[in-house]
Amino acid sequence: MGIEKMKVPFVTFKPLEEELNRELREAFVRVFDNSWYIEGEEGTRFEEEYAAYCGTKYCVGCGNGLDALFLILKAYGIGAGDEVIVPSNTFIASALAVSRTGAIPVLVEPDIRTYLVDPELIEEKITERTKAVMAVHLYGQTADMALIADIARRHNLYVIEDAAQAHGARYKGRRAGALGDAAGFSFYPGKNLGALGDAGCVTTNDPELAERVRALSNYGSDYKYHHIYQGYNTRLDEIQAAFLRAKLPLLDQMNEDRRRIADRYLREIRNDRLILPQVGHNNEHVWHIFAVRTKKRDQLAEYLKEQGIYTNIHYPIPIHKQEAYLGQRLDGGNWPVAELISETQISIPMYYGMGEEVDYVIECLNRWNG
Ligand SMILES: *Cc1c(COP(=O)(O)O)cnc(C)c1O
Repeated sequence: MGIEKMKVPFVTFKPLEEELNRELREAFVRVFDNSWYIEGEEGTRFEEEYAAYCGTKYCVGCGNGLDALFLILKAYGIGAGDEVIVPSNTFIASALAVSRTGAIPVLVEPDIRTYLVDPELIEEKITERTKAVMAVHLYGQTADMALIADIARRHNLYVIEDAAQAHGARYKGRRAGALGDAAGFSFYPGKNLGALGDAGCVTTNDPELAERVRALSNYGSDYKYHHIYQGYNTRLDEIQAAFLRAKLPLLDQMNEDRRRIADRYLREIRNDRLILPQVGHNNEHVWHIFAVRTKKRDQLAEYLKEQGIYTNIHYPIPIHKQEAYLGQRLDGGNWPVAELISETQISIPMYYGMGEEVDYVIECLNRWNG
């Protein structure tokens, strides 16, 4: 090989943490000096700032993305005997949130070109038990929300966005988080907007839902020691809120950088063995993950590793084949598109601040003749 070997991690936070080093340290010191750790000023301010960013009236912080989705479902009264439409190829949390309420996740196949749920296939899965559609903005671009909203309106269903991979993504100019009845976000460190630990939130324009989610997340309490629900404890703490406030002003710039990298991948990767992802025409993608497909996925991962490039698979086992769902309604079901994606998908490096690593990844992919 005529090019110098490099080490390219799948993801690193180093460029971001160097750029915001002072702000992140100050955020910690601010909370530490204030000596107040749960339910305080930082959380409230972050909720205001993130709601404004998404273009929603309300944002309610919580402990993580799974809890955010679960709280929305609970707050809408969804539970045993109900069904919720979920894509067959998402991260398991989308389905677990539904299962945790006692409702059944009903899986619908994606469009293999965009990896997003195929709205054409939703209607045939709707029954009188269906209460909601969970629209997952997988890999960083939004699901086809106009078609989903139309189906939901006709069948009187809630539209819940799983926006855990799509902070800042836009659909027809509007942000993820403001495209359905309510949205769940994750601020897991590796997400486009990540805390330095676990965190999440719910965004919505519905004041009643926001209030119910807030109470449910805090022991079912509307004011201290007064409990209207048998709630949970899943809150956004002050330290994580302060870190998120330090990072939020950089989110658009970080997403712009991801688009720069993705544009180069899309234009410069030229290899017949690779199928590149497609972007929906209403979408401004934020490229949480850059997913390609190839028949020889495992060989490609091995080859890239030999070149010093680290990859990932999102996700190696579809939900209906997970041991967690063994013996349940999904077990033994037939979702061939989800299976094909799980067998052929591979995610290549994508992170804020990637430099000459981009050239190297492209070069190595173009030379692959496995
Ligand atoms: C990360 C993620 C979640 C869960 O978020 P956590 O904060 O890890 O609980 C849910 N759905 C999708 C699509 C995700 O990628």
